[in-house]
Amino acid sequence: MDVSALVEGLRSGDRRTVARMISLVEDASIETLGEVMRQIGGMTSHAYTIGVTGSPGVGKSTLTGALVSELRKRDRTVSVLAIDPTSHITGGALLGDRLRMQEHATDPGVFIRSMATRGHLGGLAWAAPHALRILDAAGVDTILVETVGVGQDEVEISAQADTTIVALAPGMGDSVQANKAGILEIADVYVVNKADREGAKQVVRDIQQMLELGAHGEWLPPVLMTTATDGTGVDEVLNAVDRHREYMDSSGEARRRRLARAAGEIREIVIGRMRAAIGTVKDSDLLAALAEQVVEHELDPYAAADKLLAEVDA
Ligand code: GDP
Repeated sequence: MDVSALVEGLRSGDRRTVARMISLVEDASIETLGEVMRQIGGMTSHAYTIGVTGSPGVGKSTLTGALVSELRKRDRTVSVLAIDPTSHITGGALLGDRLRMQEHATDPGVFIRSMATRGHLGGLAWAAPHALRILDAAGVDTILVETVGVGQDEVEISAQADTTIVALAPGMGDSVQANKAGILEIADVYVVNKADREGAKQVVRDIQQMLELGAHGEWLPPVLMTTATDGTGVDEVLNAVDRHREYMDSSGEARRRRLARAAGEIREIVIGRMRAAIGTVKDSDLLAALAEQVVEHELDPYAAADKLLAEVDA
């Protein structure tokens, strides 16, 4: 594989290259990925990352599409990364069906990729930072990361975002659901979508009440209403994101999150390398011999692990 040619394509903003490189994250060996990351190193860290998360059906995808429209109105270039941790479908199938996204598919200022990562390497925590670096290197101003709300995964994704939008909708028992899943702790901006539906104001009140009772830092997350299908309220959401961004920069929180993110990324790479190295010894004679010894009570499993680790070249 010609990594340099790919990186050159990325530099010139070629969308097919972006697509190929995102697929690389899912398929390539850790050595190849390492080479890619080394080569794009100097091209990254300009994009602002906005996470959009929430339960299925609240209108995340529609909202994301509306946010893209609004960002384009403001002359910002955008990448969308849609992550579906529950699906094995890869390579755009997921987003291909989505009407709101199709309208942006031919806009040269918009890159759209989807990713399904269940079962892959280290899962989301591994794949998302890689994909984000690639999208960032493609030179966009803003990256929108859309994830289906499934507990731990969205918490991991929120760690990747500079601003996290938690989307809810009336009639889905969401305020309760969200609370359970711990989503509320990750929200920088709340969006109650489907404002055209009955019960939206009640969801807003529920969240506001929860915010009054619960602990939050200096930043009080705003609770906004949208009708994503016609774009109502979406400009206000972006204004709130901009305000959050200013707060993040002035408070030093942006740097703190970036540091935490870098630490997580390093940790994931180490784990990835270990996993790859362990993979080479997985079926080895040494492991079989150690297993024998554990079964025969000649070694405890920890001592056996020490012996195996000593042989691992990560
Ligand atoms: P996701 O699963 O959270 O990504 O939700 P989708 O964006 O796929 O939307 C789920 C359904 O809700 C679709 O039929 C949308 O057309 C509809 N929908 C999205 N936003 C709104 C809204 O603001 N009002 C109404 N009435 N329906 C909406």
